[in-house]
Amino acid sequence: MVGAGVFGVTAAIELARRGHQVTLLDPGPLPHPLAASTDISKVVRLEYAPDDFYMALAERSRDGWLNWNAAWRRQGNQSLYHETGVLMLSRSAMAPGGFEHDSWQLLCARGHRPERMDPNTIAQRFPVWRSARYVDGFYHAKGGHAESGRVVEALVRDAQAAGIRLLAGRRAVALAERQGWVAGVLDQRGEEHAADEVLVAAGAWTGKLLGLGDAIRATGHPVFHLRPRDRSWCAADRFPVFTADIARTGYYGFPINRDGVVKIGHHGPGIPIDPDAPRSVSADQLAGLRAFLTETFPALLDAEVVYTRLCLYADSQDGDFWIARDPNRPGLTVASGDSGHGFKFAPVLGELIADTVEAKPNPLLERFRWRPELRLARVREAARYHG
Ligand SMILES: Cc1cc2nc3c(=O)[nH]c(=O)nc-3n(C[C@H](O)[C@H](O)[C@H](O)COP(=O)(O)OP(=O)(O)OC[C@H]3O[C@@H](n4cnc5c(N)ncnc54)[C@H](O)[C@@H]3O)c2cc1C
Repeated sequence: MVGAGVFGVTAAIELARRGHQVTLLDPGPLPHPLAASTDISKVVRLEYAPDDFYMALAERSRDGWLNWNAAWRRQGNQSLYHETGVLMLSRSAMAPGGFEHDSWQLLCARGHRPERMDPNTIAQRFPVWRSARYVDGFYHAKGGHAESGRVVEALVRDAQAAGIRLLAGRRAVALAERQGWVAGVLDQRGEEHAADEVLVAAGAWTGKLLGLGDAIRATGHPVFHLRPRDRSWCAADRFPVFTADIARTGYYGFPINRDGVVKIGHHGPGIPIDPDAPRSVSADQLAGLRAFLTETFPALLDAEVVYTRLCLYADSQDGDFWIARDPNRPGLTVASGDSGHGFKFAPVLGELIADTVEAKPNPLLERFRWRPELRLARVREAARYHG
């Protein structure tokens, strides 16, 4: 297996549980500092506008997070999933077709009980928001955030305990093919790691490693860690995980964490980038953050920006994951295409990916199948732009 981010390590654990002998390569250290999975927090939400496929999958995942919390606590460790609830606000009245409106509608249709917000309720419950600017939306008590880097650390420990051979310091550079079958991988030292089945879950590096750049593309997205001077208002009960009119602003964020940091991220088309190229947050992105804080959280304007990061999505053209056996390279399975929203599904990813490796039928996998038509679309798109 290639890649020990959340896609790879959950798959490794599940495959080992099913009796497979698993070797996992990653340049390391683990969790890898440049991996998308390695951060202080990731949103865990049920809201997916009108898409009940993802909402149903997110409901199952949330149950999984609660079970993992119980297991971690039984082991004497801390919970790493924090159910703060999620606040999704809009700068105009919620309307059909809007992310907040359609999420609200589907939540209610599926029996959940989100609370509708108006400027008065926002001002009373979540006072740091400029309620004059945000006029509608909802708070949903289910959902919150996971300490993603610490989750991967815990999963790596579980992988070692399950007898998985973890080769940190090894980077796959090529597939080893024999008689038309992918029979292993070659690493940067020229060593071959033979396998009956090869799974590549290399995140934003997947497209480059496998020559699938027109299907799975690396794009960069900024993340900011701020240290507020006054911490009284940013605990989870008054400042839960949020999206701020996200379809229009792109901003989302988290309550203060145990290290006194408030994380804010920006979701958008992103910057296409070579995953091995140096990466940093630009002055424009920092200016964008300041403009957002001015409009939404003036109380954070004097907070120190203690860390920034350009984190990479493995973007598929349609935003769906890419979990499928390669029809052109028998013996190879690809699990990637996270498109910036995969971490919350950690508790169910292992099963989905293991079913794919074993070619076991699973109706959920239809959405993540090999989609050559997308590659064509991206080629056409590239042709269109470059004329
Ligand atoms: C800015 C940002 C914000 C996000 N926010 C959220 C969120 O709030 N909620 C959510 O659900 N999801 C979120 N995501 C998405 C989430 O982080 C990803 O879906 C998930 O982490 C992807 O996991 P992965 O295992 O595919 O990739 P990574 O975590 O990137 O892991 C890939 C691994 O492959 C290894 N690797 C790469 N090349 C090789 C090679 N040649 N040989 C061996 N190993 C290799 C790397 O070292 C790395 O460890 C966000 C992503 C970003 C970038």
